[in-house]
Amino acid sequence: MSELQQLVEAAAELVKQARTVSAFTGAGISTESGLADFRSPGGLWDRYRIVTYPEFLASSDARQEYWSMRRELIPTLLEASPNPAHEGLAELERRGKLTGVITQNIDGLHQEAGNSNVIELHGTNRSAACLNCGRRWPIEEIQLRLEADDLDPHCPGCDGLIKPETVSFGQSMPAAAMDAAYALAASSDLMLMIGSALEVHPAASVPPFAAENGARLIFINRTETPYDELAQIVCRESAGEFMTLLVEELET
Ligand SMILES: [Zn+2]
Repeated sequence: MSELQQLVEAAAELVKQARTVSAFTGAGISTESGLADFRSPGGLWDRYRIVTYPEFLASSDARQEYWSMRRELIPTLLEASPNPAHEGLAELERRGKLTGVITQNIDGLHQEAGNSNVIELHGTNRSAACLNCGRRWPIEEIQLRLEADDLDPHCPGCDGLIKPETVSFGQSMPAAAMDAAYALAASSDLMLMIGSALEVHPAASVPPFAAENGARLIFINRTETPYDELAQIVCRESAGEFMTLLVEELET
């Protein structure tokens, strides 16, 4: 039996024993959906400077820099589709095993795959909002304005600044999402962590918090994390392949 198959069988056993399973995901779960390239040399985030939240608020030049990058990023995110790792998590929810997904991703692919309880720690790229009056729009509507060279879009109602509902550098994490994540972690007796190096805090503290509260952990990530020793199972293989095999194994 291959090492992967052994890990899958051990993971399936933990899933069967668990009453409440949750998932925690990072960028690595979406690389198999073609969203890998942002941080690589020549990738989007290599060509644009990171505009912090205070800069965004302070200057039109900074906002135009920010939105120029988004004008390229938004279509890429909208064109991506869920891969077998997202679909595996959605299948676990349909079978009544998975109670929720906590994600660091802004791509909306968990909802597209069919998960209904998704806690987005870094917000979402699927919508934008007026920072003044709170009015919201699907990101597609803002993209049309960007493509018409309106690179500092303002709210038609109150002239406030419009920003994607993502959490920017220098912007505080949404307290409600963090609270919901900790509550879900504390109520889980198994957490599947997929595709995060667990380096960005406070989000990265969620899986160790689950472990402190009695949850077992399964880590599926290409690289080491600071919390590998807390996990019962650590797998470095493809998340899509692992989840496909896990769902199959649970049928037997
Ligand atoms: Zn407004």
